[in-house]
Amino acid sequence: MTIKTFNPFEMARKQFDHVADILGLNQATRDLLGSPMREFTFSIPVRMDDGSVNIFRGFRVQHNDARGPGKGGIRFHPMETIDTVRALAMWMTWKCAVVDIPLGGSKGGVICDPHNLSQRELEQICRGWVRQISRLIGPNIDIPAPDVMTNPQSMLWMLDEYETIHGGKYPGFITGKPVSIGGSQGRKEATGYGLAFPLREAMKDLNLKPSNTEASVQGFGNVAKFTIEMYQRLGGKVVCVSSWDQKEGASTSFFKRDGIDLDALAKITDHLGGIDKTRARELGYDILPGEDWITRDVDILIPAALENQITGENAGTISKRVKIIAEGANGPTTPEADAVLTERDIFVLPDFLANAGGVTCSYFEQVQSNMNYYWGRDEILSKLDTKMTSAYVDVVNVSKKRKISMRDAAYVISVGRVAQACVDRGWV
Ligand code: NAD
Repeated sequence: MTIKTFNPFEMARKQFDHVADILGLNQATRDLLGSPMREFTFSIPVRMDDGSVNIFRGFRVQHNDARGPGKGGIRFHPMETIDTVRALAMWMTWKCAVVDIPLGGSKGGVICDPHNLSQRELEQICRGWVRQISRLIGPNIDIPAPDVMTNPQSMLWMLDEYETIHGGKYPGFITGKPVSIGGSQGRKEATGYGLAFPLREAMKDLNLKPSNTEASVQGFGNVAKFTIEMYQRLGGKVVCVSSWDQKEGASTSFFKRDGIDLDALAKITDHLGGIDKTRARELGYDILPGEDWITRDVDILIPAALENQITGENAGTISKRVKIIAEGANGPTTPEADAVLTERDIFVLPDFLANAGGVTCSYFEQVQSNMNYYWGRDEILSKLDTKMTSAYVDVVNVSKKRKISMRDAAYVISVGRVAQACVDRGWV
């Protein structure tokens, strides 16, 4: 018997083909948008702390830049594959288009496990990644950003390497920089807050009073924590979060009937988002199997960890009470699970709309870096709210008008915008 492994690019293609049918795209446009325009794979030699040399595999995929320079994060992950990067680059194209910012879609990655690397080794990987690709990216070509297991420090090492190679100051080369060196206020909160804004609007549309709702969250990293913070500020209660336990090589759910204490949990979480089980138990949390977060009896599910988490196999275990799924992660729901959610009339805030707050603020950062003039935090968060809310309203309107799911509506808007840009440029 052969076991079929999950391929994110196949999933991204499937989603795209479905929308290409809805939009009636011609063959040339399908061929252009269905594959990346450019992709690069390269070796990054790194001298390790013990004196040996390791060769790490790096990637950059530029899916489409018809609407502007490519934009997309760099992931450091032991299971990174070119197909994951391709899928994420394609999703970035749709994400920038759905929030209507003038950027295209790219993504990068390195196969490595930061859990087992020293700071010096990580710095060498960051600098090595830039050295291999520095002529093919840049403020007017393709602008990287942080993603899973990379952070502002990684971005600063990358910027420093880029500026060394190109002999000048190019703060607009990369986003997600530390606020003290060219970063934007609000960037670290942007994806999580940006998810909470359309969630707030969705609750309004479904006549749900936030203070009467409960949520269960997968993950306890950057996206999860700031989504929880804003959702709690709106009055909502989070009863379950989950995280990856590096030692055990498994995930764990942390449940508290009367609601989690965000600050207390954050204090017992390591820098990669892993929650200390022993200390969580001492704080009164029930320690449950990793997959339990999805079965909780709540109104809202927020997958904010990894792709391929809500599948045809486990979608049936979602509680009947769940009304909204707000996708913080990229690609957390497979098309098979999507069919179940549509059938059950669960309102989905699709990933590339729901988590577009990060790239929107990255765009604000790039604008500020390029003008070398920086805005205050309130101004940025208010611009972010406006952008996310208006994108949400556009998607809801198309969903209602065409009687299609929120995911399809988001795709219709974004693929339509990118296809139009390709036509206007005379590419297809
Ligand atoms: P992160 O590394 O800060 O946190 C990831 C969290 O998920 C950690 O708490 C980790 O323990 C947990 N986790 C990992 N595997 C898990 C599993 N199998 N089960 C349960 N928990 C698990 O990452 P992040 O920046 O919060 O990103 C999370 C997701 O959001 C990713 O899909 C990423 O691509 C997407 N995303 C991130 C941003 C951003 O700005 N950070 C923007 C858009 C999308």
